[in-house]
Amino acid sequence: MTHEPVSVPLLQAPPMEVADAELEASEEIQDNSTGSVHSWDLVTGADGPGTRMTLFMAGCGLRCQFCHNPDTWRMKNGVVHTVDEVMARVTRYATVMKVTDGGLTISGGEPLLQSKFVMSVFRRAHDLNIHTALDTAGLLGSRLTDADLNYIDLVLLDIKSGLPETYRRVTGRPLQPTLDFATRLSNLGKKMWVRFVLVPGLTDAPENVEAIAEFVATLDGVERMEILPFHQMGRAKWEATGEPYLLENTQPPNHELVARVKSQFEAHGLNVTVA
Ligand code: SF4
Repeated sequence: MTHEPVSVPLLQAPPMEVADAELEASEEIQDNSTGSVHSWDLVTGADGPGTRMTLFMAGCGLRCQFCHNPDTWRMKNGVVHTVDEVMARVTRYATVMKVTDGGLTISGGEPLLQSKFVMSVFRRAHDLNIHTALDTAGLLGSRLTDADLNYIDLVLLDIKSGLPETYRRVTGRPLQPTLDFATRLSNLGKKMWVRFVLVPGLTDAPENVEAIAEFVATLDGVERMEILPFHQMGRAKWEATGEPYLLENTQPPNHELVARVKSQFEAHGLNVTVA
């Protein structure tokens, strides 16, 4: 079954007061031995190659209109764990990770709010020859040094829009830090999977997609361009936050729209997958 794309007025940007406070609080964090963790999962076929343990950090400084995990937004809603506790769990799954060419992914929320803790975990995992992947929107990429990046094998970089004004409307934040981080990763020869959430009426404008495609085509190290079709699985979580869910009437993209966006990326020579 296919649907007509629903076009809804999306001129609002999300409210940012709480996200601003979250970002500000994260600047004060010096502790690299404990972190606020939302949850973890053992997954195959998502968040990087092979079977992976994905650690979801609590806290995010963006407010994506399409977020399907708004319950991860606040650091104070996570559970504090030590690096040792996280590593005990990681090592339990080390064998299955290695035989499937999988590894550890740290996601969120936005993991770089707690970059010191994240790097403590990555260093320990990397020293055990466990493949490491960071899932980030890139806003806080400057919090990682080049030396830090030596411990990260793959970056799953979410580029949420290609036009600055659309990016701001979608996330409440500027686009440029993400582009700067991507360029830096490219210059360092880092492997990347770039991810884009396709939302009818919000991110699907041909010029918005084209801007991403043109930019990503200039980067080295991009192994794949992933299209993540919008879905409504986060609706109940939005209701629980009490924050306005601007996409409550938006449908997932239909096959024609996904095919158009896929062909736009492919026209720039990118290796495209649809999640
Ligand atoms: S960066 Fe991720 S967790 Fe944060 S608002 Fe966007 S989709 Fe949600």
